[in-house]
Amino acid sequence: MTRTIRHQGTILRYELMQTRRKSIELRVDMQGNVKVFAPIGMPLRSVDTFVSSKLDFIREARGKADAYRRQQAQAHPVQDGARVLLEGDVLTLRVRSGKPARLERSGDELILTAPDCGDGAVRETLRGLLIDMALNRIVERLRVYGPLVGRPYGRVTIREQKTRWGSCSSKHNLNFNWKLIQAPPQALDYVVIHELCHLIEFNHSPRFWRLVEQYQSDYKTWKSWLKKNGSTLGI
Ligand SMILES: [Zn+2]
Repeated sequence: MTRTIRHQGTILRYELMQTRRKSIELRVDMQGNVKVFAPIGMPLRSVDTFVSSKLDFIREARGKADAYRRQQAQAHPVQDGARVLLEGDVLTLRVRSGKPARLERSGDELILTAPDCGDGAVRETLRGLLIDMALNRIVERLRVYGPLVGRPYGRVTIREQKTRWGSCSSKHNLNFNWKLIQAPPQALDYVVIHELCHLIEFNHSPRFWRLVEQYQSDYKTWKSWLKKNGSTLGI
């Protein structure tokens, strides 16, 4: 649910997720959105008080997110004729006005149909479609490698993080960065395999890396590809 608080002249909207958890956690994503994860049963007033106590942190995090978005927008212009990375290839973006929003790859071109062709709107439409594409691809690859690793996992979420590609929580929920859809497919597979292997080895021990190697023999190539090129991904 969305909640709004007023505190010392500041109005803040945040998204509240009530889940089975012991502690409260607040996150600010790269778009500057505030998400709060609170235990079911925690009074809403206490949640609001907690959020009010974090206003300085939120301001700072939003400042960083703004700077990151500005830097990304400068590095990755989104307009007709721009170059956009997808699945490891550099494609030429073609923007068409129309409904519904969709994205199609045709040879070396990436054809974006956008309902609103205003400046920021095209970027947001493209980002949303790339996130959808990333989620579909990641779920598809989890279906391939999940049964091989043979351990159950929980929720799968997609987030935008600067250079963190994936994570596996102690509750076996998996999280992936949407920008992986721009990397070569083998690099995306590497991250999927990496997180699945954490279901067996919750560490980065030699045993963990041997496990990763079992499912992707050239994983080192893709691990270093991400290290070297990861900061060039995004829009
Ligand atoms: Zn790891």
